[in-house]
Amino acid sequence: MLGSTLQTTLDTVLARNPGEPEFHQAVHEVFDSLAVVQERHPEYNDMAILTRLCEPERQIIFRVSWVDDEGNVQVNRGFRVQFNSALGPYKGGLRFRESVNLGIVKFLGFEQIFKNSLTGLPIGGGKGGSDFDPAGKSDGEVMRFCQSFMTELHRHIGEHTDVPAGDIGVGAREIGYLFGQYKRLTNRYEAGVLTGKGLDWGGSLVRKEATGYGATIFAQEMLAARGESLDGRTAIVSGSGNVALYAIEKVHQLGGTAITASDSSGYVVDEDGIDLGLLKQIKEVERGRISEYVDRRGGRAHYVAGGSVWEVPGDVAIPSATQNELHENDAIALVKNGVRAVSEGANMPCTPKAVDIFQDAGIAFGPGKAANAGGVATSALEMQQNASRDAWSFAYTEERLTDIMRGIHQNALETAEEFGRPGNYVIGANVAGFRKVADAMMA
Ligand code: GLU
Repeated sequence: MLGSTLQTTLDTVLARNPGEPEFHQAVHEVFDSLAVVQERHPEYNDMAILTRLCEPERQIIFRVSWVDDEGNVQVNRGFRVQFNSALGPYKGGLRFRESVNLGIVKFLGFEQIFKNSLTGLPIGGGKGGSDFDPAGKSDGEVMRFCQSFMTELHRHIGEHTDVPAGDIGVGAREIGYLFGQYKRLTNRYEAGVLTGKGLDWGGSLVRKEATGYGATIFAQEMLAARGESLDGRTAIVSGSGNVALYAIEKVHQLGGTAITASDSSGYVVDEDGIDLGLLKQIKEVERGRISEYVDRRGGRAHYVAGGSVWEVPGDVAIPSATQNELHENDAIALVKNGVRAVSEGANMPCTPKAVDIFQDAGIAFGPGKAANAGGVATSALEMQQNASRDAWSFAYTEERLTDIMRGIHQNALETAEEFGRPGNYVIGANVAGFRKVADAMMA
């Protein structure tokens, strides 16, 4: 139950942002967690901190026209939502996917505020993207789209202003085209203006792996807090992008076995453990479909068209595809099959009902803004390397990432305890992330 002040604020925010269900969902979840804070800190109310937090500092929507391979002019819509800069320059990825709209960018930007705060590094929250989908486009088309996108975006970003990176549909290729255009337009080698760059031109080792590694490390930390470990456990992972691939890699490094991966058409189950070399070849090199895995792998691997990967029994679940991919029925199936921990590799992959089911069943549940913060944290490490014109080793960067993930876990755990909700990582992460931003805004 929200108190009356919180409820009134929430109603105002929802009414001001009609037709944005994902943004409403993200705001609702944070408000639910903050009821405990409002009782102890009335000063946040007096300063309208929450109302201010829910209103982006700036929202930019722009036309992106580009020419396809047939010579036709195509038009897409570009977005950048600069949500909160209390802790540092706006920071957050760009998502290129057909379904992208302002509400989705706002939900992601809102989550980013708290996530970035939890990393302990000086980064504010933002997000952007376009309804352009790179899948099925030629390299030339993707390049011309990215150049046109940056032609508008460049005037709004900068290493001290706003630092975009990748998200779904935006990897090193897209960042390369975007960075090249930024450099051309500004005549500045401003490496820290984008993160997720290639290793030869200012990128950081471990950035590619960081989100997935971090989500698995978070799962391991949650298990360790309960006297358990990933060693000898099976993991169910959804998705087959950057997050999923490296979540699987870290599961294997920690002695577990990840047995699934998926894409929008279906999923594969490989009881012998996903062959990462093969999966990387199909997804990273050939940009192919997950169904190709089974024929090339042989053995016990099989492919299920459609269906839900969450029907597969396993000890740990790492949803790493996209928002609202894991529903109530999926949560019921996972609980029935004995899942021990759920760590969100994607942003908001579990529906609110699914989260309730995990929490009611006493399962360790790590929300995305804590569990997947390793990606943006390593982006901040990339910015540090760029600022000092340095390049760190893989081992050192991974050590920093691991420390950051352990710190986030500890912070969320202790904060939940402090507010009388032990073991509730949703409340712990929301409150800990919020407090730092709120205090900075007050100051
Ligand atoms: N898109 C990632 C996220 O959701 C990373 C953002 C970044 O590195 O700036 O956190």
